[in-house]
Amino acid sequence: MAYPHRAFISIGSNLGDKLDNCLRGIDALTAAGDIRIRRRSAMYRTEPVDFKDQDWFVNCVILVETGLDPLGLLERLQSVQRQAGRPVERLRFGPRVLDLDLLLYDGVILEDPRLTLPHPRLHRRRFVLKPLCDIDPDTVHPVLNQTAQALLAELEEEGQQVVEIE
Ligand code: ADP
Ligand code: MG
Repeated sequence: MAYPHRAFISIGSNLGDKLDNCLRGIDALTAAGDIRIRRRSAMYRTEPVDFKDQDWFVNCVILVETGLDPLGLLERLQSVQRQAGRPVERLRFGPRVLDLDLLLYDGVILEDPRLTLPHPRLHRRRFVLKPLCDIDPDTVHPVLNQTAQALLAELEEEGQQVVEIE
């Protein structure tokens, strides 16, 4: 098995045992043997941003190596979400057992109806950029041409609290 590609994935949960949901989701990603976890950020409790009237999330970011192509990796993320008991139809940005988003895949820029790369909201979210910076602060956003660290520095903490758990 070859693992030529590097991808950053955002993991989140705000229903049930959130920390456990995230950790199980990460484990489930490796089950088929075509994804290897290289790094995992700290775990964070994070304030909900898009839809404020819901519980805080637990979030982290992982760096993986894989032989899957971008859409193959997205399909895997969606299958692990379903396995975790997340219904397909639901309130956009609302509560979820497990949310797996593909943030960056090598330096790929993609506009597909199913997949946008880099993730379209990555640069506006502290709950993504803070853990991303734990793993690789120098990683460059291929559209904005700025590092994760520089993007994080531009964001206000107000309304986007991110508190490390462990
Ligand atoms: P969000 O994570 O933005 O709150 P969802 O998890 O419900 O919302 O994702 C909605 C749709 O976004 C998915 O059906 C997926 O096809 C699409 N999508 C587009 N780009 C990405 C990406 N980079 N990572 C994950 N999903 C994406
Ligand atoms: Mg998602």
